[in-house]
Amino acid sequence: MDHASYETIIQDAISALPDQIRDRLNDVIIVIEQEAPPRQRGILLGLYEGVPLTAWGRGEMNGKLPDKITLFQQSIEQVAGTEERIPDIVRETLWHEVAHYFGFDHDHIGKMEERWRAKRQQ
Ligand SMILES: [Zn+2]
Repeated sequence: MDHASYETIIQDAISALPDQIRDRLNDVIIVIEQEAPPRQRGILLGLYEGVPLTAWGRGEMNGKLPDKITLFQQSIEQVAGTEERIPDIVRETLWHEVAHYFGFDHDHIGKMEERWRAKRQQ
């Protein structure tokens, strides 16, 4: 899948977020990289780097670098298996990293995702 297709998928995923979340994503840049950095176990689909909104003192930082969400194309394609599933994986990964931006820790997000999946299957 080419870069332009990813940009469209990401735009759609952001558009699907509730307004009050989307409005607060102004300070975040989203990038796509080919390869994830090496990791000890599991597949790294995405990465959030920055200072979460809930962090103390965030409001006082001037001139800091913007927060960054990186999506790893090869990992996403590996997990998706087929092109049709790529948008789902991109959306789930992006929302996961957005949740980190809002200050949720990884385990908590994992539990929320399990609930969403259970709901969708009903
Ligand atoms: Zn996480």
